[in-house]
Amino acid sequence: MNEFEIISRYFAPLAGEGAFGLKDDVALAPRRQGHDLVVTTDTIGEGTDFFAFDPPDTVAQKALRVNLSDLAAKGAEPAGYLLTLLLPHSVHEEWLAAFTAGLARDQTEFGISLLGGDTSATDGPLSIAVTAFGYVPQGKMVKRGGARAGDAVYVTGTIGDSGGGLAIFKRETHGLSDADRDHLTARYRVPWPPVAFAARLRDIAHASVDVSDGLIADLGHIASASGVRIVVEGERVPLSGPLKALWGDNVLLRAVTAGDDYQIVFTAPPGLIGPFTGIGQVMPGGGVGLTVGGREIAIPKPGYQHF
Ligand code: ADP
Ligand code: MG
Repeated sequence: MNEFEIISRYFAPLAGEGAFGLKDDVALAPRRQGHDLVVTTDTIGEGTDFFAFDPPDTVAQKALRVNLSDLAAKGAEPAGYLLTLLLPHSVHEEWLAAFTAGLARDQTEFGISLLGGDTSATDGPLSIAVTAFGYVPQGKMVKRGGARAGDAVYVTGTIGDSGGGLAIFKRETHGLSDADRDHLTARYRVPWPPVAFAARLRDIAHASVDVSDGLIADLGHIASASGVRIVVEGERVPLSGPLKALWGDNVLLRAVTAGDDYQIVFTAPPGLIGPFTGIGQVMPGGGVGLTVGGREIAIPKPGYQHF
């Protein structure tokens, strides 16, 4: 199959409004009255963000979802995406069929459609770049820089599960049940960004970021953009049962620095209740601290870094 056959057979069925069936040079991003267009891009690579043995449909879901967490963290609703593939020459049709089936499922799940992309062959590893866009009511995008002293810090979901799944794939020894092990490895393969939460987030949050490098590292981005200090109370960080079983006494420090969570951490007035957990406070100063039993503990490495 040449690239045009690949496009018309596997990608054109995913095309949405404005994509011209993937038969033109460009697409038109639909306009939405009274809204700002929000754009983001993230690339995942074999050996870095997923394994060669991962199922193609979960690889597709991860490629899309790591972008959806960025949109959600800004209070935006997803609408469309571009897909840029570097495919090894060895890729076969079954792989493409399963990969696009994963995309189709998530398009339905999250209300997003394909607008275009690029397909090239490579002698190197598989690489998948997604550029996603969405809409937020005009002027309502939640930035990193809006945190103020007196805010509380909240996070959605649980933290560290994906990092636990990665540790298991890297053959860290453990005595987990099959169900606990599968819970964690599934989180590594397929993140669950809180997409539906975006609408509420933009009404309550002063500052927000998605957790991709590690909770502490990403809170550091809010702290520096906002010119504030953030202190996380370790006891309040939401951790799953399987992760506690995996990491025991080390669970807190490992979870808050692992990354790949694709949850949202945000600051907002104290006392709020919703699908999130209060984990700390914003105060004057700079940087991020972590306390256990009221005492600050050292954080050797706040998160993942590529270089
Ligand atoms: P160009 O010659 O400008 O590089 P292409 O031949 O790469 O154009 O693309 C032809 C059409 O197919 C375009 O509409 C493009 O957006 C679409 N397309 C190519 N690759 C992909 C892909 N991986 N996913 C979605 N659309 C794609
Ligand atoms: Mg091209």
